[in-house]
Amino acid sequence: MAETFKVLEVVCPTCGKVKNVNVPEAIFSQKKFGSIKIQIPINAVCPEHQFIVFVDTKGIIRGYEKIDILMDTVSPIVDRETAGRVNLKNLIQIFGIYGIFSLIHGKIFNYPSYVIKDENFQYDEALLNSVGDNLLPETYRGSKTIYIIEDPDINKIKVKDKDALILDTSQHIFQTPWSIKLKFEEQIIKRALEIIDEEEQLKLLQQDISNLIKEVHYTVSILEEVDQIYEDDLAVKISKALSIKKTSTYHLNLIKEFIRRNISKKIVSKIKNRVGEFLSVI
Ligand SMILES: [Zn+2]
Repeated sequence: MAETFKVLEVVCPTCGKVKNVNVPEAIFSQKKFGSIKIQIPINAVCPEHQFIVFVDTKGIIRGYEKIDILMDTVSPIVDRETAGRVNLKNLIQIFGIYGIFSLIHGKIFNYPSYVIKDENFQYDEALLNSVGDNLLPETYRGSKTIYIIEDPDINKIKVKDKDALILDTSQHIFQTPWSIKLKFEEQIIKRALEIIDEEEQLKLLQQDISNLIKEVHYTVSILEEVDQIYEDDLAVKISKALSIKKTSTYHLNLIKEFIRRNISKKIVSKIKNRVGEFLSVI
């Protein structure tokens, strides 16, 4: 089956370099998904920057998002020795760096993830799920969240789930069910990639994720004791108790998302926002 392409004129959002990028026509002929995210790795448009392009079904670029990771550590050529092994480098080569942020986010926050595979993709569901599970503390392991879709035809995808991440193995992301930015994932992957040893990379990721979950558990213990609490008071309590720097709104949103997705929606509703309250009075 010969694939036809549409040419997109892509501009690097950091330095303005322009280059045409071929995108499979099938991406636009599908009607299931609105705007999709296309990952632009280093050297595809710019030798120095990688980023995401948001494209609608008419092929019009709607926006860009920068990815602030230097990828010197990930060469585009799979080296023979580690080819086929499941490690961070190989997974990034397959899914793209933003695809990996998304898959990790899906795993931590318990969103189902659907992977549309191409013919070269060689991992099975069980393997991907166990890799994902290994990032989590034991009590959160074991639920299957990653599913592989064998048919590459986008129009045949039968995922009705609005809560699902849907991506393929060619750097396209069709649906992300969250609105939060993947800053946490970017930060932990960045740290992990600074380490050469593969096992140590995984351990560091585990550690960063388990630290987040520790904050989650502490937050839950506070919430269990109160009827309601203001967001900023909660942030101060968490940072004091765990001796960490002041919990940012972003970080608190991560904690809330984790509780909502993994523990209880009800308990999150105890967290109040002063601005919201003020506006509702007007
Ligand atoms: Zn650039």
